[in-house]
Amino acid sequence: MDYDVLILGGGLIGCAVAYELSKYSLNIALIEKDYDIVDDVALVNSAIIYDGVQCDNNIMSKLEVMGNEIINNLSSKFNIPCKKQASLLIAKNEEEEKILEDMYNRAIKRGISNIALLDGKYAYELEPNLNVKVNKVLYSQNTGVICPYEVGIAYGEIAFDNGVAFKLEEKVEDIKKINRGYKVETNKNKFTCRMVINTTPEDYNIDGFKENICERVGEIKYFIIEKSFKGHFSNMVFSYNKDESIYMCPTVQGNYIAAIKTKENLNYEEGYKKINSLIDGLRPQDINSFYEEPFYDDTIVIDDSLVHKGYIKVTGKNYAEVTMTPSIGKIICETVVSNLNCKLKSDFNDKRREIYKFSELSNEERQKIISLDKRYGKIVCTCSMVTEGEIVDAIRRPLGARTVEGIRRRTGAGSGSCRGAHCMNKIVSILARETNKNLTDIVKDSKNSKILLNRIKEFDDM
Ligand SMILES: Cc1cc2nc3c(=O)[nH]c(=O)nc-3n(C[C@H](O)[C@H](O)[C@H](O)COP(=O)(O)OP(=O)(O)OC[C@H]3O[C@@H](n4cnc5c(N)ncnc54)[C@H](O)[C@@H]3O)c2cc1C
Repeated sequence: MDYDVLILGGGLIGCAVAYELSKYSLNIALIEKDYDIVDDVALVNSAIIYDGVQCDNNIMSKLEVMGNEIINNLSSKFNIPCKKQASLLIAKNEEEEKILEDMYNRAIKRGISNIALLDGKYAYELEPNLNVKVNKVLYSQNTGVICPYEVGIAYGEIAFDNGVAFKLEEKVEDIKKINRGYKVETNKNKFTCRMVINTTPEDYNIDGFKENICERVGEIKYFIIEKSFKGHFSNMVFSYNKDESIYMCPTVQGNYIAAIKTKENLNYEEGYKKINSLIDGLRPQDINSFYEEPFYDDTIVIDDSLVHKGYIKVTGKNYAEVTMTPSIGKIICETVVSNLNCKLKSDFNDKRREIYKFSELSNEERQKIISLDKRYGKIVCTCSMVTEGEIVDAIRRPLGARTVEGIRRRTGAGSGSCRGAHCMNKIVSILARETNKNLTDIVKDSKNSKILLNRIKEFDDM
């Protein structure tokens, strides 16, 4: 066999599984069709760390509670931007009060602590900028925000350093059962393995396997609010009714997100009005950008019905998957370990290489790093204060960035208010130089996203 385990898909879950399994003496590869791992994680660079209170399903709640605890430890161990952030779920009328009371009673039954159901007047003490009448508030101290992309990158980097082979730009096209394992065919190679962990949405017609269908529930509309807006909340605020929910939360980068999960086809104006009804003094010029993304609320299933044949598939898409990912990774790992009967490695290295963020360093630290590497003294992205040194490091790290989006997500370059207008050409040049490619071969985030289409003049540099 080429590998003990083949992980299909380098999203958050695939990388978490790779990390957990890399602790064991197994020969593992991960196959990802895109240029980069964690390429499909939501564009907004802050995910909520849920606490098992809001979801209907008890199993999903358990995965959230377990994930919540692991993620808080991971963030400090791997230096992932993360903030503990209390949350207020507010009820504005009797109908919403009933939803909140049911949620609270269910959470108590689930054994969730650090929550309280309070009278509405406390909401204004906690959030003086609230612009609505609040009857009741469910206060939780368990929630937070984290940079989801960095969770995946950290998992991937450590798995890579501990021997997992990452096969990027390889699309899995077919899986066939063979004696004591599987044959996996990609657009480039054929591999054999003892076990397959499939984290992609594809089912490959595996004999005896019944696929779960993912259902899009509606849309999330995101309004990113400027850092300069002074009237924002300091906690997360959620407002529910039976058709939609609105939430507002500070991000790990210091700006602010307002989001509406809805089944309605709201346009920008309608969405803006709804948000404005919750928060005092928000003006159109305070909105930096607006995104729309699909919203899923499936039950995540770790389907191990074919584990005796060596096949595990993760199905479903869920709005709280970032929170659940560490628990899913651990559960799958335990199943694989008991199935393959393998041992922990004695030389597993659970450390991530240091990252130096120029904007977060003191002047003394900046001087020191510039004296070691002059590229840390050259600012490439002036909006987010990202230096050439950080961009080169992002490319040269394990599983380094190969695309402009990969650089943006790892360093923040190009995500400021000019949206990359000033730094895009410099980033493209650095990527081309460091990866030894032509400028015209550098892509934004996938094969069909070229930035420079053709040469029109015979200059070597931009
Ligand atoms: C708008 C939005 C907001 C969210 N907000 C939150 C939040 O606040 N809190 C929270 O906890 N969660 C949140 N989530 C959930 C979370 O971000 C995602 O659900 C999660 O990233 C999905 O990870 P995954 O590994 O399951 O799937 P994916 O990221 O889809 O991974 C699957 C991978 O498989 C690869 N692949 C597919 N087909 C093939 C093939 N044939 N061969 C090889 N590779 C293949 C894909 O390229 C992809 O990289 C949000 C999600 C969305 C969309």
